[in-house]
Amino acid sequence: MLINVTKLLLSEGFVKEVNESIPIDKIKCQGITYSLKDEVKTEVKLTNIGKKEVEIAGKLNAALIIPCSRCTEEVIYHLETNFHRVASFGEKRVAVDDDDDDEANKYVEGHNIDLYQLVYEELIINFPMKVLCKNDCEGICNSCGCNININKCDCDNLDIDPRMAVFKDILKDY
Ligand SMILES: [Zn+2]
Ligand SMILES: [Zn+2]
Repeated sequence: MLINVTKLLLSEGFVKEVNESIPIDKIKCQGITYSLKDEVKTEVKLTNIGKKEVEIAGKLNAALIIPCSRCTEEVIYHLETNFHRVASFGEKRVAVDDDDDDEANKYVEGHNIDLYQLVYEELIINFPMKVLCKNDCEGICNSCGCNININKCDCDNLDIDPRMAVFKDILKDY
């Protein structure tokens, strides 16, 4: 998904708008692969801000499939976020800057902006830390492993500190 910016670079102030759906179906975040339910919708505005630099202002909308942090049921998480970057297309960069630029501009290839790469990076940056299927998700039973939201098991899952459990047993004898 490359956006060619050759024409855009001709004159400062030129603007190019791109509305694309990016077919990212999997994303790898911290060693775990997650699926996406739909293509990622994007609205991107590119502006030539002079000095061979292009300002990228965009919005993305993705449906990530993520397991609930408590019960592991899959949840569709709608991620909507704005992003803002400046891509440099200068022919020759000062040697000192090279390392930084290469690292920061992986989505820049020649006179193209790789929207797939850019959106992928934004999904990783904005990936949610914790997702719950519902706010009061009861999670999984520690004893039998059933999903307590679906199955009310008979396990004794009182939230008792293991050290306090000793006292519970003592009290039982009375
Ligand atoms: Zn849950
Ligand atoms: Zn149980």
